[in-house]
Amino acid sequence: MHQTATTDKPQIKMAPRAMSKPAPQVTTNRTRDDIETVRANNPIEQVIGRYVELKPSGRRLLGRCPFHDDPTPSFVVYVHNQSWYCFGCDIGGDVFRFVERIEHLSFTEALQRLGSNTLPERHVTHALPPQVKSVPMLELSDEHFTLLTAATEVYHAAIFMQTRVLEYLAKRRIDLDMIRRHRIGYATGNDLAKYFRFRGWDPEIANDLGLINESRGEYFRQRIVIPEIRQGRAIYLVGRATQKYQRAKYLGLPGAPKPLYGLEAIQHAKDVFVCEGPIDWLTLVGWGYPAVALLGSHLKQDRISEIADAERIFIVTDSDEPGRKCACQLAETFGKRARIVPPLPNVKDVNELAMKQNGQAVFAHLVEQARATIR
Ligand SMILES: [Zn+2]
Repeated sequence: MHQTATTDKPQIKMAPRAMSKPAPQVTTNRTRDDIETVRANNPIEQVIGRYVELKPSGRRLLGRCPFHDDPTPSFVVYVHNQSWYCFGCDIGGDVFRFVERIEHLSFTEALQRLGSNTLPERHVTHALPPQVKSVPMLELSDEHFTLLTAATEVYHAAIFMQTRVLEYLAKRRIDLDMIRRHRIGYATGNDLAKYFRFRGWDPEIANDLGLINESRGEYFRQRIVIPEIRQGRAIYLVGRATQKYQRAKYLGLPGAPKPLYGLEAIQHAKDVFVCEGPIDWLTLVGWGYPAVALLGSHLKQDRISEIADAERIFIVTDSDEPGRKCACQLAETFGKRARIVPPLPNVKDVNELAMKQNGQAVFAHLVEQARATIR
């Protein structure tokens, strides 16, 4: 009893009644109820529908992202859990988060606007807010990885029937051994849906990934498909055009976050080579360089930490004007670790250099030049 009395004393001194918790908690609960009421009264598909033209695609809705220049719809609204996500911006959230971003409001303001129902009836085509860092909401499940890995195998098996594709790759110095090692495949555009049906897999999962769409069919058609494999599973696919009519040279998988290609093989490497495209990456890896591909000219901030171990980063870009510009930007990003490999002589990219008789030796020489530079 004595002990209780002594411990009680200082507590009373430190926490006067007026500042105790119960009163604010009641308000918090009420606010939470308000939030949920406003949420329930504002279905996400209706609110976003005021700004974005949404089209049903499986159990979700698809549209062009209002936050970035989005020629192919990469903005998804999930009605079942009342969330949205843009695969281009890597951002998403709930209905409040959307209103905050599009109207440049705070959370409280967004709550008020939705509560009073005073959002404008209009279509916004472009509203680019300042870049806000945000963690991707969607994470791929094991089911997604299983389907992606299966797709990789279906495409890989199909490539051996494609004599012209094999000839093309051989000309590009990508031989059968590399095709096998990197599980490179070919998408006819007819094989995958059949196989998935045969396995009895939920078509919604393939749809989530963007691999197969009920109305538009298979995403990769007449493309060489290069997977990114991590721990034996495919986590991403990129398709390279093989036909003249195909306007996009490369197509990335719409429903999965874009990874750094080749990351697994460069762990603990002191020198890392960074290039733009997957074919250049295959060339570099084939020559024995520890290389990663950005699948584009831009490196996302959260990917930089993935190559934090590297002491020197050799930047290998196309020798044209955009390529050089990209090299400078990347050098800026990597700071004093960066070494820009000098412009490749008389060729557009590394893969083209590989097609020349002494291409590999020329490249090794350029790398030594780059290594000698100190930033
Ligand atoms: Zn976007």
